[in-house]
Amino acid sequence: MPSPIENATPLAAIDWTAVQHEAVGHFQQVLRTNTVNPPGNEMAVARHLDQVLRAEGIETHLFEPTPGRAALVARLKGTGERQPVLIMGHMDTVGVEKEHWSVDPFDAVIRDGYLYGRGAIDDKGMLTANLMTMILLKREVIDRGGTLSRDVIFVANSDEEAGGDWGMGWLIDNHPELIRAEFALNEGGRTRIVNGKPLYVAVQSTEKVSHVVQVVAHGPGGHASIPLEGNAVMRLGRALAAIGAWREPVTMTPATTRFFGELSRVWPERAEGRAMADVASGDADQVRRGAKVLAGIPVFDAVLRSGISGVILSGGIRSNVIPTEVTATLNVRTIPGQSIDGLVARLAKVVGDPQVEFVISDRGADSPASDFASPMFAALADTVHELDPTMVTVPYLSTGATDSARLRNWGMQAYGILPFPMEQDDEDRMHGNDERIPLASFDFGTRLIYGAVWRVTR
Ligand SMILES: [Zn+2]
Repeated sequence: MPSPIENATPLAAIDWTAVQHEAVGHFQQVLRTNTVNPPGNEMAVARHLDQVLRAEGIETHLFEPTPGRAALVARLKGTGERQPVLIMGHMDTVGVEKEHWSVDPFDAVIRDGYLYGRGAIDDKGMLTANLMTMILLKREVIDRGGTLSRDVIFVANSDEEAGGDWGMGWLIDNHPELIRAEFALNEGGRTRIVNGKPLYVAVQSTEKVSHVVQVVAHGPGGHASIPLEGNAVMRLGRALAAIGAWREPVTMTPATTRFFGELSRVWPERAEGRAMADVASGDADQVRRGAKVLAGIPVFDAVLRSGISGVILSGGIRSNVIPTEVTATLNVRTIPGQSIDGLVARLAKVVGDPQVEFVISDRGADSPASDFASPMFAALADTVHELDPTMVTVPYLSTGATDSARLRNWGMQAYGILPFPMEQDDEDRMHGNDERIPLASFDFGTRLIYGAVWRVTR
């Protein structure tokens, strides 16, 4: 049976079985090159990609920002009628605990329809799907005498897992002219299978802002043999108990409202579906009622309000001395547009102890949200609909921070996707053990990226 995409667009000419065979070959080669960061050593992958792209007749620029690290930029020329579109992926991965894997993490084993390997989900799958998109646009559009309304820029970058100083940061600082675009497709979204059925594609259009706050409790010091009123350790304990019980107010953004509103239409669990419709309703009472139900699901609660996590405790010098100062470190993620100073003022009030001081030691920067009424978002949604009309495409406020914030602050409309449909269990293997991707999902994701980029270059 032909797949829906073959019936609906000029993509019909493409032999997807052959494309998938070719794509899996590149994917395995990329997975077999160990790019655990540190040290990264992404140059080995970059050279392979560079060679493949050049063999197709595609213009490339390969840079070595520092020994062993690489930045690869390729470009397909359009007519210039519209501004370029950028598709990006990172070549580095996090490390492995080899003893907890059932296969060699760098052998790219295929077993029961899954391809295993460190980086299969994050981010070598997308990197390979982006590579295939470049190859197919060249073969199927340009080589057949067709045109693209905008340049398509491909970036394979380094060092994403360690802050990006040798990756996207380096490219923006050193070669901005090569990567400037109207739209960018990056990692950062989700395509979720729920109860065995592919349900939704969440396109990250905005992200929470990460801050670090120190809670410092002060008190009188002395010998531990004489207990003192106002002991800093006990004081900090009371402060943390109060902070732990505090919930920031529910804050609906345009992306969150659309996310829950669309999801409520397809969500399989009745009560949760109703709660999603409630939080999207705009009615204060309904929002409160819905948020109460969704608060039971940590990943949903985290998109509804700013979040506070305790992460480090420090203080004290020895077991018989009362310290004068002890500290708890909080990681705080604010809803974009919310003030960290306002949040800290609320915490100080909740704690209500002048001997407990709050210091913002690392202040994140807000970035503007990308428009989910743009041609890029529409191209993604239309392609998803073509591939599977029962799925919905929703904008998404991610709780994690990505490189896209840099791009948004630079004036680009950046969208985060993970175009491969996955169960929560498979998605949780990202950065974990036995990271793997269903081959059928890899195929879906390759078609999704190609279809969306094809559409936005009409
Ligand atoms: Zn990643």
